[in-house]
Amino acid sequence: MLILVLNSGSSSIKFQLLSMPSGTMMCSGFVERIGNPGARFYLETTKGEYDKEQEVPGHQKGLEIIATHLTNPELGLLQPGQKISAVGHRVVHGGKFYAQTVKVTQIVKEKIKELASLAPLHNPNNLLGIEVSEQLFPEAEQVAVFDTAFHQSIPEKAYRYAIPNVFYDDHGIRVYGFHGTSHKYVSERASEYLGRIPSRMITIHLGNGCSITAIRDGKSVDHSLGFGPSNGLIMGTRSGDIDHALIFYLLERGYTAEELNQILVKESGMYGLTRLRDLRDIQSAAEKGDRNSILALDMMSYRIRKYIGAYAAAMNGLDVLVFTAGIGENSALVREQVCGEMDYLGLEIDPDKNQKAKRGICEVQSFDGRVKILIVPTNEELEIARQTYQLLK
Ligand code: AMP
Repeated sequence: MLILVLNSGSSSIKFQLLSMPSGTMMCSGFVERIGNPGARFYLETTKGEYDKEQEVPGHQKGLEIIATHLTNPELGLLQPGQKISAVGHRVVHGGKFYAQTVKVTQIVKEKIKELASLAPLHNPNNLLGIEVSEQLFPEAEQVAVFDTAFHQSIPEKAYRYAIPNVFYDDHGIRVYGFHGTSHKYVSERASEYLGRIPSRMITIHLGNGCSITAIRDGKSVDHSLGFGPSNGLIMGTRSGDIDHALIFYLLERGYTAEELNQILVKESGMYGLTRLRDLRDIQSAAEKGDRNSILALDMMSYRIRKYIGAYAAAMNGLDVLVFTAGIGENSALVREQVCGEMDYLGLEIDPDKNQKAKRGICEVQSFDGRVKILIVPTNEELEIARQTYQLLK
């Protein structure tokens, strides 16, 4: 079964074509800067790369370009008579309605639209991707895979905020959580690798966005991103946890709500502290003694450690810790800083194994460490394709 995975964002559409159930990737690519000058289409297949700047005024055109290339006989991606059976769409917010992947129906589309108020930057574009895909691939089943779904198992004591009940009852304000597809995927790969579902696992997704999940017997029971995708860990440009009093303080000093949102979401985090965007640059600057970069790395690791401690307390201990995503998979330095001084929990990293970790699943705990420390590469597209296949097979 050929499954196209689409991740339709505000100005980009990422895609992958996978053959299921093997999970073989036939091609991947993206259209970026949609609606802006310098829009670009990129496609990578086993036979080569196509990289083209071209005008892409909107998502309709972007998806048309993708569809035209996927079905172009010269590229040979589809055998004669072969069709794309399903399109798996990443949808950021499923609210309280979706704890599972579902086939797209009129009702599902209405719910995604209704939830746009909770994810204004994502859900409208996810929906647009679905609607254009319905036109371009009318014979394919459309499937929605929600980022929030994995976290629907979080118990009420952890997903409620201590604010008047009316805000939960009438406005749906609660922890929803994000990056669920990644946390689910890496926790399942870790369980497969270990040959058992660990009783108490923590997965740490460290990319441009960062989040941490407490997973009890395979189910998410707590998570650092909350109502929106800004809480918790220090991220690339997002602050993570702050005292909300500072927002009111700055509002009173003349900043507008819009300006503060921009500052906290786009200009804070590691970038706010260092003026550098890429963790590799921050690590190099720290090596050369840049004080801001050293401090930012310390702050990032310290925040993660505090969450590990909190989630170990929430689960009455810890058996497995998983690092994933761009930073989690590649930065030995961050992994080492995070796991330092946690031996009280039985968490001890082996510096040598950590430095030498290769691509793929690696174990990096020390000989004496009681907690398994795993590096597990994430693959959200494959997880979306797997869930789509499971639903339809
Ligand atoms: P992601 O959102 O998962 O693509 O992760 C992006 C982040 O991973 C960026 O901050 C990159 O700087 C970081 N990253 C990627 N490769 C490395 C590496 N080799 N060492 C440290 N950080 C990396």
